[in-house]
Amino acid sequence: LIQLSVPLNFIGFIYREIRQGLTDIEAMFRLLGVKPEVVDAADANALRVDAGAVEFRDVHFAYDPARPILKGVSFKVPAGKTIAIVGPSGAGKSTISRLLYRFYDPQGGQVLIDGQDVRDVTQKSLRHAIGMVPQDTVLFNDTIAYNIRYGRVDASEEELETAADLAQISGFIARLPDGFDTMVGERGLKLSGGEKQRVAIARTILKAPPVLVLDEATSALDSHTEREIQSALDKVSQGRTTLVIAHRLSTVVNADEIIVLQDGLIAERGTHAVLIAQGGLYASMWDRQREASEAEERLRAVRESD
Ligand code: ADP
Ligand code: MG
Repeated sequence: LIQLSVPLNFIGFIYREIRQGLTDIEAMFRLLGVKPEVVDAADANALRVDAGAVEFRDVHFAYDPARPILKGVSFKVPAGKTIAIVGPSGAGKSTISRLLYRFYDPQGGQVLIDGQDVRDVTQKSLRHAIGMVPQDTVLFNDTIAYNIRYGRVDASEEELETAADLAQISGFIARLPDGFDTMVGERGLKLSGGEKQRVAIARTILKAPPVLVLDEATSALDSHTEREIQSALDKVSQGRTTLVIAHRLSTVVNADEIIVLQDGLIAERGTHAVLIAQGGLYASMWDRQREASEAEERLRAVRESD
């Protein structure tokens, strides 16, 4: 990343296209917080997506050998189902999404999609099959339409508008001087965290991939907007294999299975009802969040009565 951005500062006259190309690559890696270090196997085939079942099989991973992050994590996301991963910050939740997208390879175990190890397929086909709404979205220096269309470049005008509608960003776009043609990104109009997240959600709705990864996809939104977008996300994930990484537990209540990650291992797993009844880690996280959101509601009520 540093190697890419230093020469950029020197070559001021570089063609916009080249610069855009670099920005895209840079943005892609920056948004996932990783550097490119995996390559396609010499005999890599395209991923054959059947139903899009995902499996982590005894996965061990460390960024730094001295500090293991995942210490033998196994779970399955059956085709079309939704699995939620929760746990304290730093537990390795986003790392799981990076391993699935193959920004890194595990040191032990396997990551599989429809029975194919992600190391055996081309990265292009792998990433084509996965739609990811990351924690921090980096927009390309281009129009807002380009940024949404990136999900599927041949989408029609109508599909573009529908995706923007579902992601609750069309009202905002309509108020911009150039509408969908407004330039955004580092050198254009700066969008807020929540607006960027909604662009990323629109992009993913348009892409409609067989496998969906939502990494705290609504974390930058206020709880009202979050509720509105949640229904759009629920619609996209309908019938698609979905991995939801969530901070706010209200978004994982309906998951087919919730996995609680702690200290590199799965500490608890089950449905919301089962985990609440169990009265363990998940139950205490749930209580804490409910207290916090009740306090937030009371604060809002006080403000509104002023
Ligand atoms: P979570 O999403 O659960 O908050 P992450 O998966 O992002 O956690 O990170 C797990 C741990 O790995 C954290 O302690 C984090 O600091 C560390 N980490 C994340 N990315 C890198 C990286 N590129 N290099 C080294 N350590 C990293
Ligand atoms: Mg994370």
